[in-house]
Amino acid sequence: MNNAEVMPASGKTAVSEADKLSVSVLKFGGTSVKNLARIQHVAEVVRDRLKVGAKILVVVSAMGDTTDYLLKLGSQCAKNPDRRELDSLLSTGEQISITLLAMTLKEMGIKSRSFTASQIGILTEKVHSKARIVDINSDNLTRALQENDVLVVAGFQGVTADGDITTLGRGGSDTTACALAAAICADVCDIYTDVDGIYTADPNVIAEARLLKRVSYGEVIEMARLGAQVLHPRAVELARQYKVRLRVRNTFRPDHEGTIIDQGEGENMEIYRSISGVAVDKDQSCVTIMDVPDKPGIAGRIMQALADNNIVIDMIMQAFHSTAGHNNITFTVHSTDLDLTIKTLEGIKGDLDASSVISDCDIAKVSLIGAGLAGQSGIAATIFKAFGSAGINIKMIATSEMKLTCVVSAKDADKASKIMHSSFGEEI
Ligand code: ASP
Ligand code: MG
Repeated sequence: MNNAEVMPASGKTAVSEADKLSVSVLKFGGTSVKNLARIQHVAEVVRDRLKVGAKILVVVSAMGDTTDYLLKLGSQCAKNPDRRELDSLLSTGEQISITLLAMTLKEMGIKSRSFTASQIGILTEKVHSKARIVDINSDNLTRALQENDVLVVAGFQGVTADGDITTLGRGGSDTTACALAAAICADVCDIYTDVDGIYTADPNVIAEARLLKRVSYGEVIEMARLGAQVLHPRAVELARQYKVRLRVRNTFRPDHEGTIIDQGEGENMEIYRSISGVAVDKDQSCVTIMDVPDKPGIAGRIMQALADNNIVIDMIMQAFHSTAGHNNITFTVHSTDLDLTIKTLEGIKGDLDASSVISDCDIAKVSLIGAGLAGQSGIAATIFKAFGSAGINIKMIATSEMKLTCVVSAKDADKASKIMHSSFGEEI
């Protein structure tokens, strides 16, 4: 499935007219605008970044846990809230933060204005709760940039051609920021958060985790997909596609350079660094459909049934079962999709002649990520031996060009990630 955002055909107009303008996009996440004191601080960071003749486009998330709170409210009104109404409700979170920030900036004497997605024209497909951006109204953007020094745009939301409000999926403000940066050919897109940048592992779990000065788009996409709480993978995909110069920086240490994310090529590229980090995902479950007949078409039917229910799966494995002519097919799913996955497979089990559907929620995915991983021999041996000595049982293994993933018992996740990190401490 192509997850790439279809991005703005008309963005070109904005580029040519806004050519004379130098624009930086700064995105501030929920923790950075958690309360009024923090909004004041963000306004100061924005003010300090304003240079004569340069413009700033700020994208903000909802304050603190507002989106979670709104979701809770919605679920108290209806068991399965109407998706259209839910998107309208969720979009109000960002509407609060943009207006408060714009007011604060104006109070400082800065020419600024807030915009919702429908005001500025962030058009999405007609899908609720995970819409993709199809176009950005470049005329609106150019005009607004000419009239103001700072634009404050609501992250996470969009509007359909019919005027319905949509949202881009949790954590979608990163995607808004990268899309806007692409549409106006911004000099840079700085994602401000509450840590100094992207680390080789979660510093809360692994004390030796180090900050990466520079890392490639591809590696960050893998890290994000494999559970690292970095950027939204869709945002990085968009940045890669449109060559947006991306940085991750700390709102509370604005002078710190943070992490640069780019192509990972060129003179100074640290491609020699074959490994860039370790990611852990504890929100996964594993599902097996047992004893399916070993004949053409079976795997296709299983996958189609899951795809029809929008279930994204990973680490698909098929192995011979002791009963001749039968296989077991195992894969991982996000734990929030577990019930639906089991229900879907139970529904086709009879037709497929499978014996049973079993699941395991006591798992975690622990992954080693690096652009040079494929060319390195002995990495798997080192890790598996170290896991063995520590008494960690590996339930599943998957490798690809940029990653090596082991599924282990949830209780072993932190220990396994520490072992992975320390095994390659020198390289990272
Ligand atoms: N407020 C939305 C969320 O919490 C979007 C974002 O923070 O990026 O998911
Ligand atoms: Mg958030």
